[in-house]
Amino acid sequence: MPKQPPEVRIHNFNEVALGFTPEQAINEAKRCLQCPEPKCIGGCPVEINIPLFIKQIAEGDFEAAIKTIRETNNLPAITGRVCPQEVQCEGVCVLAKRNAPIAIGALERFVADYELSKGGPKVIEVAKKTGKKVAIVGSGPAGLTVAGDLAKLGHEVTIFEALHAPGGVLAYGIPEFRLPKSILNAEVNYVKKLGVEIMLDVVIGRTLTIEELFEMGFNAIFIGTGAGSPKFLNIPGEELNGVYSANEFLTRCNLMKAYKFGEYDTPIKIGENVTVVGAGNTAMDSARTALRLGAASVTIVYRRTEAEMPARAEEIENAKEEGVKFQLLTNPIKLIGENGWVKRMECIKMQLGEADESGRRRPVPIPNSNFYFDTDQVIIAIGRYPNPIIAQTTKGLKVTKDGLIITDEHCRTSRKGIWAGGDIVTGEATVISAMGAGKKAAKDIHEYLMKI
Ligand SMILES: Cc1cc2nc3c(=O)[nH]c(=O)nc-3n(C[C@H](O)[C@H](O)[C@H](O)COP(=O)(O)OP(=O)(O)OC[C@H]3O[C@@H](n4cnc5c(N)ncnc54)[C@H](O)[C@@H]3O)c2cc1C
Repeated sequence: MPKQPPEVRIHNFNEVALGFTPEQAINEAKRCLQCPEPKCIGGCPVEINIPLFIKQIAEGDFEAAIKTIRETNNLPAITGRVCPQEVQCEGVCVLAKRNAPIAIGALERFVADYELSKGGPKVIEVAKKTGKKVAIVGSGPAGLTVAGDLAKLGHEVTIFEALHAPGGVLAYGIPEFRLPKSILNAEVNYVKKLGVEIMLDVVIGRTLTIEELFEMGFNAIFIGTGAGSPKFLNIPGEELNGVYSANEFLTRCNLMKAYKFGEYDTPIKIGENVTVVGAGNTAMDSARTALRLGAASVTIVYRRTEAEMPARAEEIENAKEEGVKFQLLTNPIKLIGENGWVKRMECIKMQLGEADESGRRRPVPIPNSNFYFDTDQVIIAIGRYPNPIIAQTTKGLKVTKDGLIITDEHCRTSRKGIWAGGDIVTGEATVISAMGAGKKAAKDIHEYLMKI
């Protein structure tokens, strides 16, 4: 797919990938073999009828293609942009064995954008009102999916969101240059058009408890609160000025528009030599944001090798093209400051040992391999915990020792009438897996509501 050239895009926050033209989309779609037993559908957690929508694109019928996608996916302009397709639908495409797989994500994005360019999604018919009320906690991809699916089935749905904007990580985490807010807002508006009400600035567990939601007459509750509390390295010097969690750094920039400081009120530090610790999507987003803010040099420090990096392949490639440096098999052990500000990082070299419980080879420190480098801004992007507030304030809700809500295969929690899904159940995962859980929960909630 065409992209903004790296030397241009590192000076702006506009979207990097420019999308297919209609001709490019049709040509790409024509490569699809239309397998009689397509593997791609099974590779998609929301089971989009991928061969059908690709066939419709190949025939130039973009309206039909987006209709096919929207039958199972409420957020196609988002998933078309951020799904790790290389390990899902595209990863199992039979063409991948000999050639490049069909660019399924790019085609999904193309028809979703086509629909937006024609004035946005047409409202799908909503079933007759059932009189049943559902509360959704959290407006990330899990919550938006449950909300959209239940609203289509005629239920009265209200989302309660702690922040002042809906979207979860899509709003506060993923930067504008990967997922423009206008695209997110268009998809959120589609969910609203289905009849979903979104109440912002409401922290469930503080402003209102889960018990109070039941008292207010909600018949069922879905918890989709994600994993929003940052993990730290717990090394000396992490309290120094100039050290950010990726959550804070990205939230300031994305949600609070710190990159437009002056026009917006939120300031942000711009380092000369920025170090990002971690190699997931959050780390790539932080590194590329720091470059765009004007850092002279940005280095990713990661304790394993490139093969184990959890970020999407496309984003690792984009980061490299933009000049992000990679210091691999390296672990920070101390941050050193001057006058309260971070100035240097002490690291130790690592080597890979046996595989650990994640299936990846465990990084093992190499004795006496310590070294130092200068850095005046450090962004810690090594993962996120679930926020414990709901588990702490809701009786009988079972959680794991890490605070993840325990559910069965239907997304039912230990409390009758309460479901949960997305990162709050699995720990950090993906947009599409959160949506897959949302779909499963919506189906089960619907069956429950129709029986009470
Ligand atoms: C920077 C970053 C980049 C990422 N990039 C990708 C990517 O490219 N592709 C991909 O597939 N995945 C990516 N991910 C992961 C993906 O975004 C998550 O897996 C997904 O958003 C989880 O969805 P969710 O609905 O479970 O939770 P979230 O998106 O975290 O949404 C939860 C929402 O609940 C709200 N909330 C929390 N507690 C309360 C409460 N008590 N009351 C009310 N509201 C509450 C939060 O404010 C938030 O809005 C990325 C994650 C990050 C952090």
